[in-house]
Amino acid sequence: MYQLAVIGAGPGGYEAAIRAAQLGLRVALIEKDALGGTCLNRGCIPTKALLHTAEVYRAVKEGAALGVCAKEISLDERAMFARKDEVVRGLRSGIAQLVRANRIDLYEGEGRIEAAGRVAVGGSTVEAERILVATGSVPAMPPIEGIDLCITSDDLLDGGNLPQRLAIIGGGVIGVEFATLLTGLGRGVAVIEAMDRLLPALDREFGQSVAMNLKRDGAQVFTGARVSRVSRAQDGLCVEFETRGGHASCTADAVLCAVGRRANTDGLFGTHVQVEMERGRIRVDGRFETSVPGIYAVGDVTGGVQLAHAASAQGIACVEGIAGVSSGLRLDLIPSCVYTDPEIASVGLTADEAKAQGLAVRTGKALMGANGRTQIAGGARGFVKVVVDAKSDALLGAQLMCGRATDIVGELNAAIAAGLTRAQLLRAVRAHPTFEEAVTEALEAVEGRAIHAAPARR
Ligand code: NAD
Repeated sequence: MYQLAVIGAGPGGYEAAIRAAQLGLRVALIEKDALGGTCLNRGCIPTKALLHTAEVYRAVKEGAALGVCAKEISLDERAMFARKDEVVRGLRSGIAQLVRANRIDLYEGEGRIEAAGRVAVGGSTVEAERILVATGSVPAMPPIEGIDLCITSDDLLDGGNLPQRLAIIGGGVIGVEFATLLTGLGRGVAVIEAMDRLLPALDREFGQSVAMNLKRDGAQVFTGARVSRVSRAQDGLCVEFETRGGHASCTADAVLCAVGRRANTDGLFGTHVQVEMERGRIRVDGRFETSVPGIYAVGDVTGGVQLAHAASAQGIACVEGIAGVSSGLRLDLIPSCVYTDPEIASVGLTADEAKAQGLAVRTGKALMGANGRTQIAGGARGFVKVVVDAKSDALLGAQLMCGRATDIVGELNAAIAAGLTRAQLLRAVRAHPTFEEAVTEALEAVEGRAIHAAPARR
């Protein structure tokens, strides 16, 4: 009898299993596919590995402007995918070692919850005092005519042949990251987004800037455009969509469907297990327990923020709760990172969100055009914005579009979690030349005192 059985070895599941083992629980981990889940095998890691190659490729191609003399540059797509596979394999074997080292019993097979405390895996039964479901999500396929002609991010990451022309349904995170990858490799891209801007769930300025950058790199961007039909055409696939201006279409070699992900609960529950669901996701309480006592769930399968680090944090908080220790993790403060060029990162409240909550805020913004490190890297467009509480001076949120934004956001997230004020953040001297100097500039800009911005006219 185990004290905990975890179903799903993605970031939510395997990290929870390891923490539970560290806390002295006897743990079983059940996985039907590869260790690491979507994030490692079909998501964050492979996408970023390919984006890294695209970034290098682009830098070398643009090298002439930087003083590099490269006679001929060509992309070896097979080598690019082989490198991505190598990165994934390396990380996967690291997880396998950790699972073994923590004396977690790994069951390879599909887990099915037959009752509270009982999971069937293949021909055997795993019995545990508690069960944690961390089965993640799968791409959602909307009821659009011809949707079966479309591919998903899973197919693109499998490799083989990146299309010369890719149409993308959905300008959310997956849509813009694949648009960045393909334009970086010099391929044709069209992004078709139903809402009035790309990345509609994030600060308005991100979507507008990403659209400008993608267009600069040759992509077509259609916003306020809802896809109604995909069909075969003479020279590929035709995507039809409705815009305010009327009916429109574009043609591509492949069509990526990136309109969100749905909870993966297929075949998870036996007929006698009735777990309360909400719009297809497992409903949990503040301790991640489902409506069935002893069955818990974390990560994408519960909806909410569908991010690897959110799932990991929830998994850790859940098992620490089970073991009776308090983690103190701020689960309400989850940074969002989008791997565009330049990178995007956001944490806490935007100015609009703060105002909608009735909070009086002050904001500061630094433009990356004035940042030395940005000029060195050959980029110009971008910004760092901070939102502070007008009364307490505490940092409430930050939005970054700049080099290393996805790393810099950590400092700001830690500051919000610790309740630091703008004045406290300004005690730190930031090194030169770094992208991070823009944080100082944005914090100073709240008072109109940024050094590298002309003063407002008096
Ligand atoms: P998403 O929700 O971010 O974006 C989907 C987009 O599709 C929305 O903007 C929506 O308006 C649009 N859409 C829906 N129906 C449409 C239609 N018929 N025509 C045109 N547009 C339509 O979902 P996603 O990009 O598929 O990503 C799935 C999840 O994976 C997200 O929760 C995301 O946060 C996560 N993810 C995160 C990262 C990261 O953190 N870097 C990377 C990839 C994925």
